[in-house]
Amino acid sequence: MYDLEDLYQEIVMDHNRRPRNFGELSDPTNSADGFNPICGDQIALQLFIEDGIVSDVAFNGVGCAISKSSASMMTEELKGKTLEHAEQLFEAFRKMITRTPGEPYDSNLLGDLEILQGVSQYPARIKCATLAWHTLHSAIQDGNEVVSTE
Ligand code: ZN
Repeated sequence: MYDLEDLYQEIVMDHNRRPRNFGELSDPTNSADGFNPICGDQIALQLFIEDGIVSDVAFNGVGCAISKSSASMMTEELKGKTLEHAEQLFEAFRKMITRTPGEPYDSNLLGDLEILQGVSQYPARIKCATLAWHTLHSAIQDGNEVVSTE
């Protein structure tokens, strides 16, 4: 029997141990910092945007397993995508995580990110999971300001 909870744990732990695209870009076009004071998660996100496409992305920072794995999975999903697609992912991800039980979300668009949907059952972790995404939103808008979940 396929156990979603086990798969979720496994993927989160894997991304936490070996975060993808962890580091810094030499010449980012957009960047933003995010902070979740409730948990102490911090993220610095950098994008290289060319012709409306996220051609490279990197993040670094410190945080819990959920915040790190969410950021890691987000960067994997973003590379090569248009800014419009990135914003659609942000909206879809936020909706999935903050939805009330039973409310539908766009699982086709989210793809592998759907594995994090279980976080919606743990209100205390929602800000951990969405921090990277709010930071992405800010970086795309080129805010260059620190995003706080509070
Ligand atoms: Zn956290």
